[in-house]
Amino acid sequence: MTSPFSLLFQPIRIGPVTAPNRFYQVPHCNGFGHRMPRGHAAMRGIKAEGGWGVVCTEEVEIHHTTDLSPFFEGRLWDDADIPAYALIADSIHKHGSLAGIELTYNSHDASNLYSRAAAFAPRSMSVTGGSGYEPGQTRAATKDDLKQVRKWHRNAAIRAKQAGFDIVYVYAAHGLSLPFHLLSKHNDRADEYGGSLENRVRFLRELIEDTKDAVGDKSAVALRFAVDQLLGDEGMTHDGEAPEIVSMLAELPDLWDVNIAGWTNDSSTSRFEKAGFQEKYISFVKKLTTKPVVGVGRYTSPEAMVSAIQRGVMDLIGAARPSIADPFLPNKIKDERVEDIRECIGCNICVSGDLRFTPIRCTQNPSMGEEWRRGWHPEIIAPKKSDKEILVVGAGPAGLEAARALGQRGYRVILTEAGRDFGGRVARESQLPGLAEWRRVADWRVTQIEKTPNIFPYLGSPMTAADVLEAGARDVIIATGSSWRRDGIGRTRQTPITGHNIFTPDDLMDGKLPQGRVILYDDDHYYMGGVLAELLAQNGCAVTLVTPAPTISAWTEYTLEQSRIYKRLLSLGVTLLERHVIASSTSGAVTFQHAITSAAQTLPADALVLVTERIPNDALYRELLPALANGKLDSLRLIGDAEAPNIIAQAVFSGHLAAREFDETINPDETPFLRERTM
Ligand code: ADP
Ligand code: SF4
Repeated sequence: MTSPFSLLFQPIRIGPVTAPNRFYQVPHCNGFGHRMPRGHAAMRGIKAEGGWGVVCTEEVEIHHTTDLSPFFEGRLWDDADIPAYALIADSIHKHGSLAGIELTYNSHDASNLYSRAAAFAPRSMSVTGGSGYEPGQTRAATKDDLKQVRKWHRNAAIRAKQAGFDIVYVYAAHGLSLPFHLLSKHNDRADEYGGSLENRVRFLRELIEDTKDAVGDKSAVALRFAVDQLLGDEGMTHDGEAPEIVSMLAELPDLWDVNIAGWTNDSSTSRFEKAGFQEKYISFVKKLTTKPVVGVGRYTSPEAMVSAIQRGVMDLIGAARPSIADPFLPNKIKDERVEDIRECIGCNICVSGDLRFTPIRCTQNPSMGEEWRRGWHPEIIAPKKSDKEILVVGAGPAGLEAARALGQRGYRVILTEAGRDFGGRVARESQLPGLAEWRRVADWRVTQIEKTPNIFPYLGSPMTAADVLEAGARDVIIATGSSWRRDGIGRTRQTPITGHNIFTPDDLMDGKLPQGRVILYDDDHYYMGGVLAELLAQNGCAVTLVTPAPTISAWTEYTLEQSRIYKRLLSLGVTLLERHVIASSTSGAVTFQHAITSAAQTLPADALVLVTERIPNDALYRELLPALANGKLDSLRLIGDAEAPNIIAQAVFSGHLAAREFDETINPDETPFLRERTM
């Protein structure tokens, strides 16, 4: 292969096994966990099919005393769990990739709500897993307890090998596991597992040695190690103890998988970090070991990947999110189809699956999580069933995806967009502070549409019902989006607010910015309120963000962004007022009531920005319904935000679903996907 990216396709030895290339899907949570092994296996299998040379599971509990409920992670507690993992390993092996499994014993991060056991920890300490505030403490592990954990880890490694895994992990990352907790400077145990660094490293060393002894003849033993917790002297640091630890264990594992901790730092969104952001922390590792090193950093560009290897930062390109957004990223690079890569936008909707206990979703890849239950493949779609022509109105994420996927099926598609640009809300929102990468949702689809000769896109083409009928279309998909409300109606308020100088997010995105003292009322609770507060502060406004929720941008907790948003807004001088519901607005002032006590508070204001709800733009659909009833149209479907305003991922999914279901008979009384049942 003479491609500039051939380096990425060189095999590399990892202990007793060989990875076919440098694309390494590092362990990542997915919301399937032990509960839905078929969904899980199919999802991992698709990654292998797409060319990821190594595909790993998420953290897999080795024993019932490390039960990570309420989250659904992996579970290899006893031999009865082996078949589910064999299913996963087999689906990875089918495509010639190596299967990795991340064994874990979490101490105070295991809430044990299901098993009701006491987790073993360096000392009796508060449980930090689950909600983060579970009212319990761990058991102080005795030396015998630590011996037990070593035995459980060994047994789990043997089960993993029996299930067919080629790479077995020892996990000491994200600030989550017992070996990582024992590494802590605060571990002052009086025995040989506490105090000096040598003592604190002892348990991790023993786990690696045990695992090599148990399965090292056939399986590689990987160490996942967090080199920095970004806590300064309070935690692990890449220029403090981490290099000492790497030196002490340098040649012991067969592979080093290194990153930063906790998860919020490791999986930072594009709003806060750009591709390659972990290099400055992890680059020392390769200088201290001859073993292969894996690193992550949301790499989607093959040039950046080659550069990371050539500069000696890593040997294998680790990826979770880029492999979720495009399971076929490696094959597209290999086939010199780089422009076809569906680049991750760094939004962390995928993360929210794990944190909301539901199967993984992805903004860019609507088939993610649907591989088994709907049989969706990210690259393949059923061919057309007729020669029908479809008119799609609106080219936001829903309309673009519907048109693209229908075109991929082979249908002739007319796509009309009122505006001068493709992308709808994505084009608009990606202009906001920190959201530039979101533009990729539109860019990828427009690139694909331009390559599909049977899709005919028209910009600057607003359609009325008469236009639709005059165009002679018989099958119509309406993807006309939604508009932000101007009246404050939303979760906490069912009657309109009136007042002077009221602005909506649409106004701000249109460039109509208020000035002076601005109150932003956020009853939406995802990113929009916080992003607009940032925009206003950057434009010199004195901003107060008021929300009825106990925290600002509350739902961003599930995209790992909440604390960063909080910090950023404070650094921009934005005043934050939580737990307040808007009551009234007059010229020059807005009055709020405390969400619990109802105590009133009036704040002076030159303008009020209302971020509450959106109104579906479904007028065109409703105007066309009679034409459907009287047979002038054969089909009419409302999709995306015009049907039900939601996140961008849902608009893309809705467009994709419409394309898949076109020409199909759908029975609304039947569940349209398979479910995993235990009986
Ligand atoms: P979604 O998220 O559901 O895709 P968006 O709001 O992002 O929705 O996109 C809707 C798109 O539809 C916008 O780009 C808008 O300009 C376009 N649109 C709305 N009404 C019409 C119409 N009558 N004719 C053509 N395009 C329209
Ligand atoms: Fe990337 Fe967002 Fe998809 Fe996650 S959900 S893989 S962050 S595009």
